Amino acid sequence: MTKRALITGITGQDGAYLAKLLLGKGYEVYGAYRRSASVNTWRLCELDVLDKVKMIAMELLEFTNILRVMDKVKPDEVYNLAAQSFVAFSFEQPIYTSDVDGLGVTRILEAIRTVNPKIHFYQASTSEMFGKVREIPQTEQTPFYPRSPYGAAKVYGHWITVNYRESYNIHASTGILFNHESPLRGLDFVTRKITASLARICCGKEEVLELGNVEAKRDWGYAEDYVCGMWMMLQEPAAEDYVLATGEIHSVREFVDKAAQVAGIPLVWSGEGADVHGIDRRSGKLICRVNPELYRPAEVDLLIGNAGKARQKLGWAPKITFAGLVEMMMKKDLERAAKGTLQF
Ligand code: NDP
Ligand code: GDP
Repeated sequence: MTKRALITGITGQDGAYLAKLLLGKGYEVYGAYRRSASVNTWRLCELDVLDKVKMIAMELLEFTNILRVMDKVKPDEVYNLAAQSFVAFSFEQPIYTSDVDGLGVTRILEAIRTVNPKIHFYQASTSEMFGKVREIPQTEQTPFYPRSPYGAAKVYGHWITVNYRESYNIHASTGILFNHESPLRGLDFVTRKITASLARICCGKEEVLELGNVEAKRDWGYAEDYVCGMWMMLQEPAAEDYVLATGEIHSVREFVDKAAQVAGIPLVWSGEGADVHGIDRRSGKLICRVNPELYRPAEVDLLIGNAGKARQKLGWAPKITFAGLVEMMMKKDLERAAKGTLQF
């Protein structure tokens, strides 16, 4: 029988890749989006899946709406990918972020409990929950120490998912996913900001790439690899929590270096702290500089995950390397800039 999936956050990066994956597996895919004057469907269009996904309006702040959608769609699997997902912005809108990313999860779980407790549920937890890390690398057992309203809200979303699993026997899993990127990543995030800006600099449409803390280190993987792990979790006989990560770290500065190399810009760095800047060795032109206004009130300096459990139990492993990821993103943004389709 055809399986039916409901994906919240369908218009986001992971929503688009997951929809493509599930459609390829023969699922009937319902995509939940938040209503707005103009719904942003460019990612679904790029992956050529918009006409295959059944779009349905669902707002995470509105329980009655979620309940009706759950009752109407009658999904076998629900993937909760919707969130205010940008850490820096969560300091500006902490209450909204807590409501969507924290209580939003309870609203969905309550709807599942009411409509059909047999539904398999995936919660998008995050490595940001580890924040000021208590051990290196981080596993499913590492204590959380969030450093932003986003991280704190996701800790609540994580534990309420565990609680509904233990209290009501709901097949509710969490994926503690480390940063995963792609050419479909939002422009606010540092990886895509770097590739999009460098592409525009190459075309003479932007002067300088301004960044915050370029020494921050992340475990960056490829989004398409990670959505596959989400699906694997929901096929298991028992629901659990899993870390998905590459186990490799690189700094923001290394990301800039590699992307500049792909774009054909020979970059040399000088200065320290807030004075760090990158210059084109051939032309002497300033390409990249630090703007302290982009520092965060509290920073997560380093995240590196151990995905041993997912590897052993699910057979999951990332396929794309750091170098492959940067190259893919940089080339795609150069192509978009050349065609004039790179928007800011
Ligand atoms: P995106 O920011 O690309 O997508 C977020 C989605 O949530 C968008 O579709 C957005 O809609 C939707 N959304 C936001 N607020 C609401 C709301 N109030 N009601 C309904 N929908 C809403 O995130 P990603 O695809 O990158 O991430 C998917 C999930 O995984 C998120 O929960 C994120 O926090 C989590 N995560 C992501 C990681 C990553 O590195 N990408 C790492 C770990 C966890 P709209 O298009 O209208 O804005
Ligand atoms: P996050 O890990 O979810 O916060 O993902 P981001 O891509 O937003 O940020 C990753 C790291 O890059 C964080 O430590 C940021 O402080 C750092 N960073 C440095 N400069 C920037 C910038 O200009 N934009 C963003 N988004 N992050 C930056």
